[in-house]
Amino acid sequence: MKKKTIAFSLAAMLAAGAAMPTAVIAQPVATGYQEALDQFDQKAIRKIDVDRIYNHIATLSEAPRVAGTEVENRAVDYLKDEFESYGYDVEVQPFTYTGYTEPTRIELNVPGLEGDLSPGNFTYGVSGDVTAGLVHAGIGSPADFDRVDAEGKIAVVQRGEFSFAEKVINASEAGAAGVIIYNNGPGALNGTLGGHDDRYIPAVSLSQEQGQALLELLEANASAEARIIVEGAETGEHTSHNVIATKHPTNKKKDTGEVIVIGSHMDSVPGAPGANDNASGTAVTLELARAMKNLPSDTEIRFASFGAEELGLIGSHHYVNALPDEEKDRIIANFNLDMVGSRDAGDLIVASVDGEPNLVTELTQKASEKLNGEPTTRGRSGSSDHVPFHQAGIPAALFIHSPLEPWYHTPQDTLDKISKEKLLDVAEIVAAAVYDRARFDNQNPKEKKRSEAHVPKEAFFEQSIR
Ligand SMILES: [Zn+2]
Repeated sequence: MKKKTIAFSLAAMLAAGAAMPTAVIAQPVATGYQEALDQFDQKAIRKIDVDRIYNHIATLSEAPRVAGTEVENRAVDYLKDEFESYGYDVEVQPFTYTGYTEPTRIELNVPGLEGDLSPGNFTYGVSGDVTAGLVHAGIGSPADFDRVDAEGKIAVVQRGEFSFAEKVINASEAGAAGVIIYNNGPGALNGTLGGHDDRYIPAVSLSQEQGQALLELLEANASAEARIIVEGAETGEHTSHNVIATKHPTNKKKDTGEVIVIGSHMDSVPGAPGANDNASGTAVTLELARAMKNLPSDTEIRFASFGAEELGLIGSHHYVNALPDEEKDRIIANFNLDMVGSRDAGDLIVASVDGEPNLVTELTQKASEKLNGEPTTRGRSGSSDHVPFHQAGIPAALFIHSPLEPWYHTPQDTLDKISKEKLLDVAEIVAAAVYDRARFDNQNPKEKKRSEAHVPKEAFFEQSIR
């Protein structure tokens, strides 16, 4: 069901001729800039092999790497093996979270209604098989349910004013057996209940048109009935993993005690092979680990791959929160690579959560100016794994091409849309930026003391990026 909805909305978008960014041809990265690069920059980027990055993406994007699944586990093994083959000690850090399994079947049958209905699911919705009379309950507020008798019935309510979860709970507390929530604008309704609640009853979504057809039927026939079937939906404990390879300072006596984390998420959304989101960032992280392995450095560099990002930055949140305060104090920068290789996306930006410059954006702009003749544009964005670092008071930024490609979170996010030029550009910028700080004898002033930051809840969901 979900797949179908995604395919439809994409087709509609393409048919409307909107949101189809023109392909951006990246500048050739090997000409015209070399004079600006010092020996350290050259050392940092010399060993990067873009074909290796591309081949990692090919391997990782064979199937969707949904958090907590066998395919994500295979990605964990692949990353561990690769990092180890470069000579690193690798930590695989498991973590558990409450996860949701999408239903395998979802149906809505209404005798007497012409045409096929296309009900949608709400994430965290429950399974069930309910046949009952319909009742019109406005927008599903407690006052709406005071006005009608919903006991044992299926409530038909409109989207809007407050959350889907509240509507479902209000219906449940009014004694309803099921809920149909229809859209208040054009298009399909794909919603989430935000988390599990024991009071939930089976709920499906409908388009505005289909909801109105249902209400007309109910007006003509007050005893109209419906059947809701939701099968296979389940909320339960799941396990995912982070994989971290550490490059220690090459001379213990010169160890600054500082740590730079280069990170990316390995998981993808259901149905999407995730070549760009985010096999691209994962593959660049792997190749940077290989290419930078033997660089002389006075700073620790951690190459991290996080699980369960798509479910609310769960892996990176777990990683940062499991660190003792002394460890957090040592981390001076987080470079977060998320969607860094789509040929159909816009230009590279480096985005901090608060939109302010920080050590990461400064190092990045300095390196990119030397590499490309102009600094990477700064932006402002949450919605990815740099957020927990920012929240802990660590300078952090997201590398992403903006605007996003039309294949974002679709089955079309595949290898053939990947641009080697873009991958190489990002890899070189990050390598040069990190090495500017990590190399010997670079006595940058100490960063000001870390202090925790407030971030809004939506910053924890990648889809807010749109
Ligand atoms: Zn992503």
